[in-house]
Amino acid sequence: MHDAFLDSRSKMTSYREFIGTFRELGLKSMTLREIAKAGSFDGMLGLRHDVDHHIERAYLMGRIEADAGAHATYFLLPPGDYDKDENYYGRIVSGAVEHNPEMLALALELTGMGHEIALHNDFLQLSIRTGRPIAELISAEIDWFAKNGIQITGSASHGSTFAARNKISNYEIFAECVRAQNSGRSIPAGKKQFPLNSISMKQLGLEYEAYFIGKSFYISDSGGAVTWPRLNESGTEETFHMEQVDCQAIAGDFKRSPHKGVQALFHADHWQFSDAQAGNEPSLDRLHTARRMARAQGWRSPRARPATLPLGYLESLLSGLSENPRIRLHHFGNVEIDPPCEGEDPRARCAREYTAWAESLTEGRRDASQIHIFVQLSQLQNRDCALIFRPERE
Ligand SMILES: [Zn+2]
Repeated sequence: MHDAFLDSRSKMTSYREFIGTFRELGLKSMTLREIAKAGSFDGMLGLRHDVDHHIERAYLMGRIEADAGAHATYFLLPPGDYDKDENYYGRIVSGAVEHNPEMLALALELTGMGHEIALHNDFLQLSIRTGRPIAELISAEIDWFAKNGIQITGSASHGSTFAARNKISNYEIFAECVRAQNSGRSIPAGKKQFPLNSISMKQLGLEYEAYFIGKSFYISDSGGAVTWPRLNESGTEETFHMEQVDCQAIAGDFKRSPHKGVQALFHADHWQFSDAQAGNEPSLDRLHTARRMARAQGWRSPRARPATLPLGYLESLLSGLSENPRIRLHHFGNVEIDPPCEGEDPRARCAREYTAWAESLTEGRRDASQIHIFVQLSQLQNRDCALIFRPERE
């Protein structure tokens, strides 16, 4: 059975159980478009997914929801963040976004399952990268999806480093999304200034911004830690966090809260998928077909930066690799470096070894079919750490 579990800063054993728990309370699972139309979260379970790195993980999440009879909204992020001009969505070429066909194929699979596709908004940064006006870029994306059979009416702000640096939330590009303390501000955008709250969502055909639909019991897995509001002794809400998350505990807090509906923001990037790990689930064929089709057209879905992957993901990847007889894991299970770095910065060492490896590959001194893995983890237990793995030499 399709299911997902979270093994990150918080642990949750079953995504199906999470959906089931809230539907048993009588909440209806609706897309955010439907919830926005209704004008409130009351009586609804709004499953929201911000897709930052992996469309394939979003697809796996979507199948679980479809099996469970739930409908979710997937916010897809155009390229331009994470210091890259390319991501799963596409790439920036001469100021325009070229779309990865795998992204479209899987977005169509998701809408086919009854889910909604919407935009994950980092358009101010994209505008600076491309030199094109924000409204024009958003319109181009909405038109492109429409031409391909997907209607876009919603947007959700992406928490980029760019936005943090400028002390804004990305939704503040929109006239309809005003945060009092920032009103009237302008952000340097290339040679010009971009005035916040100057773009009309309505004129673009956007009907809602996820943070502005209305009040809800807001659950989030941002950074891999599941948080939700809990009433404290004085009767005010505090963001609560649990390492081993119990769905009944969240449901109990919801019942005691003044809220009548739920918005749950989950990033599939943080989750692991039980059938995908087994690797032999027949309904993964559609995903593999989409991936092959994109590759045949010269596309690769770029990997997320290793440091952005949750530790749980890394661990499951490594346990998989440890079963491959061609691979010897020099170190696995703790963060010590073997052999020790002896004064050299682990990041510098990782970079140096990577360069040497890449050169030897180019010069044909190394078998390209061998797997060579460099993994960097930053800030694990408040230390900079690197784990370095090499294939067994034959
Ligand atoms: Zn995001």
